[in-house]
Amino acid sequence: MAILRLPWRKRAVDYPPLSDNLWSEVAFGRSCLLSLTGEDALRLRSLASWFLEDRAFRSVAGATPDDSDRASIALLACLPILNLGEGWYRDWKTILLEPDGFVHRMETIDSAGVVNEYDDELSGRVTEMGPVILSLRDVRESGFGDGYDVVIHEMAHKLDERDGCLDGVPPLRRGMSRRRWQEAFSLAFNDLRTRARKAGDRRGHTRGKRLPMDEYAAESPEEFFAVACEHFFGTPERLMAAYPDVYRLLSEFFMMDPRMRTLPGMPGKIS
Ligand SMILES: [Zn+2]
Repeated sequence: MAILRLPWRKRAVDYPPLSDNLWSEVAFGRSCLLSLTGEDALRLRSLASWFLEDRAFRSVAGATPDDSDRASIALLACLPILNLGEGWYRDWKTILLEPDGFVHRMETIDSAGVVNEYDDELSGRVTEMGPVILSLRDVRESGFGDGYDVVIHEMAHKLDERDGCLDGVPPLRRGMSRRRWQEAFSLAFNDLRTRARKAGDRRGHTRGKRLPMDEYAAESPEEFFAVACEHFFGTPERLMAAYPDVYRLLSEFFMMDPRMRTLPGMPGKIS
Protein backbone atom coordinates (compact mmCIF):
# COMPACT_ATOMS: atom_id res chain seq x y z
CA MET A 1 0.00 0.00 0.00
CA ALA A 2 1.33 3.45 -0.93
CA ILE A 3 1.96 5.75 1.97
CA LEU A 4 1.36 9.42 1.40
CA ARG A 5 4.35 11.32 2.67
CA LEU A 6 3.98 15.02 3.25
CA PRO A 7 7.08 17.11 2.51
CA TRP A 8 9.09 17.55 5.70
CA ARG A 9 9.18 21.13 6.80
CA LYS A 10 11.75 22.36 9.26
CA ARG A 11 10.09 24.13 12.18
CA ALA A 12 11.26 27.56 13.29
CA VAL A 13 12.24 26.24 16.75
CA ASP A 14 14.72 23.88 15.08
CA TYR A 15 16.71 26.72 13.53
CA PRO A 16 19.89 27.80 15.32
CA PRO A 17 19.45 31.14 17.07
CA LEU A 18 20.68 34.24 15.27
CA SER A 19 24.33 34.90 16.12
CA ASP A 20 25.32 36.67 19.36
CA ASN A 21 26.92 39.49 17.37
CA LEU A 22 23.85 40.26 15.27
CA TRP A 23 21.58 39.96 18.30
CA SER A 24 23.69 42.43 20.33
CA GLU A 25 23.92 44.83 17.41
CA VAL A 26 20.17 44.85 16.73
CA ALA A 27 18.98 44.72 20.34
CA PHE A 28 21.20 47.64 21.41
CA GLY A 29 18.86 50.50 22.43
CA ARG A 30 15.72 48.53 21.57
CA SER A 31 13.91 47.90 24.85
CA CYS A 32 11.31 45.63 23.21
CA LEU A 33 14.14 43.15 22.51
CA LEU A 34 16.47 43.82 25.46
CA SER A 35 13.68 43.25 27.95
CA LEU A 36 12.87 39.71 26.79
CA THR A 37 13.71 36.90 29.16
CA GLY A 38 16.70 34.77 28.16
CA GLU A 39 14.44 31.95 27.04
CA ASP A 40 12.15 34.22 24.99
CA ALA A 41 15.14 35.94 23.41
CA LEU A 42 16.53 32.57 22.30
CA ARG A 43 13.18 31.52 20.82
CA LEU A 44 12.95 34.86 19.01
CA ARG A 45 16.45 34.44 17.62
CA SER A 46 15.52 31.00 16.25
CA LEU A 47 12.36 32.41 14.71
CA ALA A 48 14.44 35.20 13.15
CA SER A 49 16.81 32.63 11.60
CA TRP A 50 13.79 30.87 10.13
CA PHE A 51 12.43 34.20 8.86
CA LEU A 52 15.72 35.12 7.17
CA GLU A 53 15.91 31.78 5.37
CA ASP A 54 12.23 31.58 4.49
CA ARG A 55 11.70 35.14 3.19
CA ALA A 56 12.97 36.75 0.00
CA PHE A 57 14.48 40.20 0.55
CA ARG A 58 14.53 42.37 -2.59
CA SER A 59 16.03 45.83 -2.91
CA VAL A 60 14.21 48.52 -4.82
CA ALA A 61 15.49 51.90 -6.04
CA GLY A 62 19.04 51.28 -4.87
CA ALA A 63 18.39 50.25 -1.25
CA THR A 64 21.50 48.63 0.24
CA PRO A 65 20.54 46.61 3.32
CA ASP A 66 23.30 44.93 5.31
CA ASP A 67 23.13 41.88 7.59
CA SER A 68 22.20 44.04 10.55
CA ASP A 69 19.25 45.58 8.64
CA ARG A 70 17.94 42.17 7.62
CA ALA A 71 18.38 40.89 11.19
CA SER A 72 16.53 43.97 12.54
CA ILE A 73 13.61 43.27 10.23
CA ALA A 74 13.59 39.58 11.13
CA LEU A 75 13.71 40.12 14.90
CA LEU A 76 11.10 42.89 14.98
CA ALA A 77 8.85 41.03 12.53
CA CYS A 78 8.96 37.86 14.60
CA LEU A 79 8.25 39.54 17.96
CA PRO A 80 4.44 39.57 17.37
CA ILE A 81 4.43 35.87 16.43
CA LEU A 82 6.76 34.75 19.23
CA ASN A 83 3.89 32.89 20.90
CA LEU A 84 1.53 32.63 17.91
CA GLY A 85 3.96 30.64 15.75
CA GLU A 86 5.39 31.05 12.27
CA GLY A 87 2.22 29.68 10.64
CA TRP A 88 0.76 33.19 10.87
CA TYR A 89 3.21 34.40 8.21
CA ARG A 90 2.90 31.40 5.86
CA ASP A 91 0.81 33.19 3.22
CA TRP A 92 3.39 35.72 2.03
CA LYS A 93 7.09 35.54 1.24
CA THR A 94 8.66 38.74 -0.04
CA ILE A 95 9.99 41.91 1.55
CA LEU A 96 10.74 44.80 -0.78
CA LEU A 97 13.16 47.35 0.63
CA GLU A 98 13.12 50.99 -0.45
CA PRO A 99 16.01 53.22 0.68
CA ASP A 100 13.70 55.89 2.10
CA GLY A 101 10.05 56.90 2.39
CA PHE A 102 8.31 56.33 -0.93
CA VAL A 103 5.44 57.97 -2.75
CA HIS A 104 2.31 55.96 -3.34
CA ARG A 105 -0.71 57.03 -5.37
CA MET A 106 -3.74 56.90 -3.08
CA GLU A 107 -7.38 56.91 -4.06
CA THR A 108 -10.37 57.73 -1.89
CA ILE A 109 -14.07 57.87 -2.75
CA ASP A 110 -16.15 60.43 -0.85
CA SER A 111 -19.80 60.13 0.17
CA ALA A 112 -20.91 61.71 -3.13
CA GLY A 113 -19.03 58.99 -5.03
CA VAL A 114 -16.30 61.37 -6.23
CA VAL A 115 -12.91 59.72 -6.62
CA ASN A 116 -10.02 61.75 -5.19
CA GLU A 117 -6.44 60.88 -6.03
CA TYR A 118 -3.37 62.11 -4.20
CA ASP A 119 0.24 61.14 -3.58
CA ASP A 120 1.14 60.00 -0.07
CA GLU A 121 4.62 59.43 1.31
CA LEU A 122 4.80 56.10 3.10
CA SER A 123 7.37 54.35 5.27
CA GLY A 124 5.84 50.93 4.69
CA ARG A 125 2.97 49.18 2.98
CA VAL A 126 1.49 45.73 2.58
CA THR A 127 -0.01 44.45 -0.63
CA GLU A 128 -2.98 42.14 -0.23
CA MET A 129 -1.69 38.63 0.48
CA GLY A 130 1.55 39.78 -1.20
CA PRO A 131 4.87 41.48 -0.44
CA VAL A 132 5.58 43.86 2.41
CA ILE A 133 7.31 47.08 1.38
CA LEU A 134 9.54 48.80 3.95
CA SER A 135 11.66 51.95 3.92
CA LEU A 136 15.13 51.06 5.13
CA ARG A 137 15.56 54.44 6.80
CA ASP A 138 12.41 53.82 8.85
CA VAL A 139 13.48 50.27 9.73
CA ARG A 140 16.66 51.77 11.21
CA GLU A 141 14.54 54.13 13.36
CA SER A 142 12.13 51.42 14.53
CA GLY A 143 11.80 49.88 17.97
CA PHE A 144 13.68 52.44 20.06
CA GLY A 145 11.02 52.92 22.72
CA ASP A 146 9.13 55.90 21.29
CA GLY A 147 6.25 53.84 19.94
CA TYR A 148 7.43 54.03 16.33
CA ASP A 149 8.03 50.71 14.58
CA VAL A 150 7.32 50.37 10.87
CA VAL A 151 8.15 46.64 10.91
CA ILE A 152 5.66 45.74 13.65
CA HIS A 153 3.12 48.10 12.02
CA GLU A 154 3.23 46.28 8.68
CA MET A 155 3.29 42.85 10.35
CA ALA A 156 0.13 43.83 12.25
CA HIS A 157 -1.55 44.48 8.89
CA LYS A 158 -0.38 41.03 7.76
CA LEU A 159 -1.98 39.42 10.82
CA ASP A 160 -5.12 41.52 10.32
CA GLU A 161 -5.60 40.48 6.68
CA ARG A 162 -5.34 36.75 7.35
CA ASP A 163 -9.12 36.45 7.51
CA GLY A 164 -9.36 38.18 4.11
CA CYS A 165 -10.43 41.52 5.54
CA LEU A 166 -8.19 44.39 6.58
CA ASP A 167 -10.45 45.89 9.25
CA GLY A 168 -8.51 46.03 12.49
CA VAL A 169 -9.73 42.60 13.64
CA PRO A 170 -7.29 39.75 13.04
CA PRO A 171 -8.62 36.19 13.18
CA LEU A 172 -8.99 35.81 16.92
CA ARG A 173 -7.84 32.76 18.81
CA ARG A 174 -10.36 30.30 20.19
CA GLY A 175 -12.20 31.70 23.19
CA MET A 176 -11.72 35.36 22.27
CA SER A 177 -14.85 37.38 21.56
CA ARG A 178 -14.99 39.32 18.30
CA ARG A 179 -17.74 41.52 19.71
CA ARG A 180 -15.68 42.46 22.78
CA TRP A 181 -12.73 43.26 20.51
CA GLN A 182 -14.78 45.49 18.23
CA GLU A 183 -16.38 47.35 21.15
CA ALA A 184 -13.09 48.07 22.91
CA PHE A 185 -11.24 49.05 19.75
CA SER A 186 -13.98 51.27 18.33
CA LEU A 187 -14.38 53.09 21.67
CA ALA A 188 -10.66 53.81 21.76
CA PHE A 189 -10.53 54.70 18.05
CA ASN A 190 -13.39 57.19 18.38
CA ASP A 191 -11.81 58.71 21.48
CA LEU A 192 -8.48 59.19 19.71
CA ARG A 193 -10.18 60.64 16.64
CA THR A 194 -12.03 63.18 18.77
CA ARG A 195 -8.87 64.16 20.63
CA ALA A 196 -6.86 64.48 17.41
CA ARG A 197 -9.55 66.64 15.84
CA LYS A 198 -9.77 68.90 18.91
CA ALA A 199 -6.01 69.28 19.10
CA GLY A 200 -5.94 70.09 15.39
CA ASP A 201 -8.77 72.64 15.71
CA ARG A 202 -6.98 74.58 18.41
CA ARG A 203 -3.59 74.73 16.79
CA GLY A 204 -4.30 74.06 13.12
CA HIS A 205 -2.20 70.93 13.50
CA THR A 206 -1.58 68.33 16.17
CA ARG A 207 2.20 68.31 16.07
CA GLY A 208 3.66 68.60 19.54
CA LYS A 209 0.36 67.73 21.19
CA ARG A 210 0.57 64.77 23.50
CA LEU A 211 -2.02 62.36 22.20
CA PRO A 212 -2.30 58.94 23.85
CA MET A 213 -1.07 57.33 20.63
CA ASP A 214 0.52 58.32 17.36
CA GLU A 215 -2.02 60.44 15.49
CA TYR A 216 -1.86 58.17 12.43
CA ALA A 217 -3.95 55.67 14.40
CA ALA A 218 -6.96 57.99 13.93
CA GLU A 219 -6.95 57.35 10.14
CA SER A 220 -9.06 54.17 10.22
CA PRO A 221 -9.79 51.11 12.42
CA GLU A 222 -7.11 49.06 10.64
CA GLU A 223 -4.48 51.78 11.18
CA PHE A 224 -5.58 52.05 14.81
CA PHE A 225 -4.91 48.33 15.28
CA ALA A 226 -1.49 48.52 13.57
CA VAL A 227 -0.40 51.58 15.58
CA ALA A 228 -1.76 50.02 18.80
CA CYS A 229 0.52 47.03 18.12
CA GLU A 230 3.52 49.39 17.73
CA HIS A 231 2.71 50.88 21.15
CA PHE A 232 1.93 47.50 22.71
CA PHE A 233 5.47 46.29 22.03
CA GLY A 234 7.27 49.66 22.15
CA THR A 235 5.56 51.69 24.90
CA PRO A 236 3.32 49.20 26.73
CA GLU A 237 2.81 51.37 29.82
CA ARG A 238 1.60 54.27 27.69
CA LEU A 239 -0.95 52.12 25.85
CA MET A 240 -2.14 50.53 29.10
CA ALA A 241 -2.62 53.97 30.67
CA ALA A 242 -4.56 55.30 27.67
CA TYR A 243 -6.64 52.32 26.56
CA PRO A 244 -6.45 49.48 29.11
CA ASP A 245 -9.10 47.32 27.40
CA VAL A 246 -7.22 47.50 24.10
CA TYR A 247 -4.00 46.63 25.91
CA ARG A 248 -5.57 43.63 27.65
CA LEU A 249 -7.05 42.28 24.41
CA LEU A 250 -3.71 42.61 22.61
CA SER A 251 -2.05 40.90 25.54
CA GLU A 252 -4.55 38.05 25.26
CA PHE A 253 -4.13 37.83 21.50
CA PHE A 254 -0.31 37.87 21.47
CA MET A 255 -0.16 35.78 24.66
CA MET A 256 2.31 38.10 26.30
CA ASP A 257 2.46 41.13 28.56
CA PRO A 258 5.37 43.40 27.61
CA ARG A 259 4.91 45.41 30.84
CA MET A 260 6.08 42.36 32.78
CA ARG A 261 9.46 42.35 31.12
CA THR A 262 12.50 43.65 32.84
CA LEU A 263 15.33 45.69 31.49
CA PRO A 264 18.84 44.90 32.66
CA GLY A 265 19.41 46.73 35.91
CA MET A 266 15.71 47.53 36.42
CA PRO A 267 13.24 45.78 38.70
CA GLY A 268 10.42 43.87 37.02
CA LYS A 269 7.06 45.55 36.76
CA ILE A 270 4.28 43.46 38.22
CA SER A 271 0.74 44.79 38.25
ZN1 LIG B 1 -0.71 51.09 8.11
